[in-house]
Amino acid sequence: MDVNLEEVTLMMVSMTPENNKKCLCGTCRTYLYNSLRSRVFCAFGKSEKPSQMKGCVCNSCPISIEYNLSGYYFCIKGAEE
Ligand code: SF4
Ligand code: SF4
Repeated sequence: MDVNLEEVTLMMVSMTPENNKKCLCGTCRTYLYNSLRSRVFCAFGKSEKPSQMKGCVCNSCPISIEYNLSGYYFCIKGAEE
């Protein structure tokens, strides 16, 4: 897929329920350790809950691959810029 960053952001925010299900956050140690809620932090920004880093699986996520994301720990660092 060949899109610019602005297009990626718009695409992420308007993510479909099907794409939302692809998010792997619910399986990661950071998510479970910190009892996070919500998901798709790469699009919607960091969690309001202070969290400790315990590992991140974003690099293996279909969304990260599909949208060519370069970041990780979006739940702590905030959305992809
Ligand atoms: S952004 Fe990374 S560290 Fe945070 S919950 Fe998702 S997979 Fe886990
Ligand atoms: S890249 Fe990370 S935050 Fe974004 S949908 Fe995938 S697992 Fe969730």
